Amino acid sequence: AKKQGKDQFTVFDPVMRESFQKHLEMEADLRRAVLRHEFQLRFQPIVRLRTGEISGLEALVRWQHPERGMIPPLDFIPLAEETGMIVPIGEWVLREACRQAAGWNAQRPADAPLTVSVNLSAVQLDRADLPDVVSSALEESGLPAHCLVIELTESLIVDHRPETLRRLHAMKALGVRLAIDDFGTGYSSLAYLRRFPVDIIKIDKSFVDDVGDEPAAAALTHGIIQLGQALQLSTIAEGIEDAGQLSELAGGNCELGQGYYFAEPLTTEAMQDLLFGK
Ligand code: C2E
Ligand code: CA
Ligand code: CA
Ligand code: CA
Repeated sequence: AKKQGKDQFTVFDPVMRESFQKHLEMEADLRRAVLRHEFQLRFQPIVRLRTGEISGLEALVRWQHPERGMIPPLDFIPLAEETGMIVPIGEWVLREACRQAAGWNAQRPADAPLTVSVNLSAVQLDRADLPDVVSSALEESGLPAHCLVIELTESLIVDHRPETLRRLHAMKALGVRLAIDDFGTGYSSLAYLRRFPVDIIKIDKSFVDDVGDEPAAAALTHGIIQLGQALQLSTIAEGIEDAGQLSELAGGNCELGQGYYFAEPLTTEAMQDLLFGK
């Protein structure tokens, strides 16, 4: 390789080569992970702020790598999206989340079913079969459609293609609810809230972080909550870590919240214990 001339080294230096090889290795690992089912779900409770009761769960994916241990989603989802592997991974997440939630709901009073929220990538929304995939995950698990929440980011909605809107409506027609994740971080106009069949706004953690001690963050947070109320949307505050944030949000009539203050994302077993005791 050394003799291959200077040009090649300038465009492909050792550092780049190493990172390129790491990328290829990771891609091969990810392919194997899909075949070998190396993914797991964590569940984080979503809490009714006024009463403290658990109203739902967000399913969050993890990759249990055989040598590298537990890999968080932000370290592999971008590659999974780039390679299209997010499609089978996302489908597994959806089926597994529905299956698990239906199982837990069967052990709960019929009038207090938990919702389960699943994150969807833009790549999944680009596929024509998405509504069928969602519909079969519901059917297979027996989870009522109104117990499933699909979380989408603002950017996904703002850069949408015409088919995207049709797919969102097809999911809504099933009875599934839609949430805007990380609300307030996209550089969008709010106009899409009129056109998209949104049910829930998730207030981004960056607002919640400073809600107790920064007047601008508090004003924006309360503004978002009021916007939600005016549009008859539920609001979920993300990333609540302390009692001060909780009281500021609950006092401002934010309906729901999640965050380490209540619980971190839990394994299935830990969630089971939290819901039903040991
Ligand atoms: P997200 O959807 O905004 O999920 C919330 C993230 O914040 C989770 O990180 C959660 O563990 C973390 N979190 C929750 N409460 C707190 C808190 O009080 N403090 C702090 N510092 N963090 C908190 P996680 O599980 O690492 O997921 C990161 C992101 O990866 C998610 O952000 C979501 O965008 C993506 N993701 C996770 N699971 C999936 C999935 O199944 N499919 C897709 N497409 N994306 C996923
Ligand atoms: Ca989310
Ligand atoms: Ca979020
Ligand atoms: Ca703070």
